[in-house]
Amino acid sequence: MSVTFSLEALPTGTFHAMCDEVPIVTGVTSYEAALEAVTAHQATCAECAMYRPFVRADVDVDEDRFSVNVSNVNARDLLFALDLPHDEDLSGHEDGAAFLARVLVALGTERDDAALPERQGRDLPGMPFSGPWTIDCARPAGYITTRLEELHAVALEAARLGRSVGWS
Ligand SMILES: [Zn+2]
Repeated sequence: MSVTFSLEALPTGTFHAMCDEVPIVTGVTSYEAALEAVTAHQATCAECAMYRPFVRADVDVDEDRFSVNVSNVNARDLLFALDLPHDEDLSGHEDGAAFLARVLVALGTERDDAALPERQGRDLPGMPFSGPWTIDCARPAGYITTRLEELHAVALEAARLGRSVGWS
């Protein structure tokens, strides 16, 4: 399970359809028109059996560039560093300028950001003994700082556009 921090994106009113990495149609003005293109494409495409084609609404920001994906465990540590709720529901959103202020404070705060070894088990510190089997992947030194630097870019763009930053 993972959590993605992302810049609020607004739909542009157009749609695109993809087969694996290949565009089937782009810039059409209705979902139905994109779906029709997919149906026509599927009749002649062998790849579609393996890669389900999909239709997606276009948005006005580069979602890949302005998002940060981390594991739930690392999301908890990041939310803790940002002084945001980090116990149960790892989702929320905040105004970009306010989020940017949190990131700057977090980047200016000393923390133990040492490397962590992989951990496995049901009795990890901070986890209930009877909980599910948990695997924490190893984490290199400076991991939280690096993610905060990435979040800084997301927050800066959100503040510039007057948008929010969301995480879920
Ligand atoms: Zn296809």
